[in-house]
Amino acid sequence: MSTVDIQQVTKTYGEVYALDQVSLTFADREFFGLLGPSGSGKTTLLRSIAGFVTPTMGQILVDGADVSRIPTYKRDVGMVFQNYALFPHMTVFENIAYPLSVRKTKSAEIKSRVERILDLVQLGGYGSRRPRELSGGQQQRVALARALVSRPRVLLLDEPLGALDRNLRQHMQIELRQIQREVGITTILVTHDQEEALTLSDRIAIFRQGKVVQVGRPDDVYENPRDAFSAEFFGSTNFLKGVSLGVQGGIGAVELPDGTRIFTNRALPHSGSSVTLTVRPEKVLIHREQQPAGTSGSQWNILPANVIQPVYMGASVTYQVSTPPSTFSVFQQNRETRRFEAGEAVKISWLPQHTVVLDD
Ligand code: ADP
Ligand code: MG
Repeated sequence: MSTVDIQQVTKTYGEVYALDQVSLTFADREFFGLLGPSGSGKTTLLRSIAGFVTPTMGQILVDGADVSRIPTYKRDVGMVFQNYALFPHMTVFENIAYPLSVRKTKSAEIKSRVERILDLVQLGGYGSRRPRELSGGQQQRVALARALVSRPRVLLLDEPLGALDRNLRQHMQIELRQIQREVGITTILVTHDQEEALTLSDRIAIFRQGKVVQVGRPDDVYENPRDAFSAEFFGSTNFLKGVSLGVQGGIGAVELPDGTRIFTNRALPHSGSSVTLTVRPEKVLIHREQQPAGTSGSQWNILPANVIQPVYMGASVTYQVSTPPSTFSVFQQNRETRRFEAGEAVKISWLPQHTVVLDD
């Protein structure tokens, strides 16, 4: 059982608020992703949990006890960083054993624990190798094993897969998730890679300039971004600006500058307020006909558009289209659907439930 409770944590460096009143609770055994652009405070939060950074204000509780002012070695956390510095002159076994050796664990106990953890990260039999005799992914697993061997209460991962190439990174993501489930350890992962956050996390928090913008399950944050920053940072998206006409019979309407009405079944600010809407590219259909195939078109938002550029990506095609004053990105699965050329006049359409209303 390990929960981590971040209460109103602020960390300043001179004028800079690296963390600005951050409150978050990580549940027992949860895999939690911290996502945000460079400089948004993710590493500072992780280092505060580890004890390398002392918050200017606020508390950090592990299993209900305030650890904010306790030194790192008493906090019982395991850590893996992007440049997982293994000791080059030590063998894999010695690297992993290191945290136990410094705690003066008996050598028989060290041996059995290291061997068990080597099996867990699928490196049984590699104990006598040196780090340089391993691939990047294997070295990464050694670093993970070293972080786990002392059975910490919390595992902190700071862009641990950042140095690996794409294929290996995807493979390691799956392995990391399996190992985390098997060990059942509360894990906090820092990443700027949205796909990684989606694949691994039970919940995520989106950071911006030291503040948490949004917290939730990845699918919830993706489908219901709170503001333009969240929408754009966590997936690509399209924006429209207009004026609220209010909600009638459960359907809200927003008028675009040219008088076109966009419908949504989400809450809208009161009539006359300016609003920003967003629609994900994969919710949008592109077609020649007046309405999407097989529908009467009655419920759909339909806009005329011109294809600027099709971007062929094998499994899919992404169209950049212009629908003044906006530019839209439309994602189309590469089924037997018709393809469109640059310059072609088309219609784009989507359902009211996919028009997301953002906070300004
Ligand atoms: P992230 O991990 O999201 O990229 P960081 O937590 O590393 O962001 O940094 C957040 C902000 O705090 C940045 O503006 C960074 O420059 C600043 N910062 C972090 N550590 C220090 C430090 N030791 N001294 C001065 N400024 C720092
Ligand atoms: Mg960082």
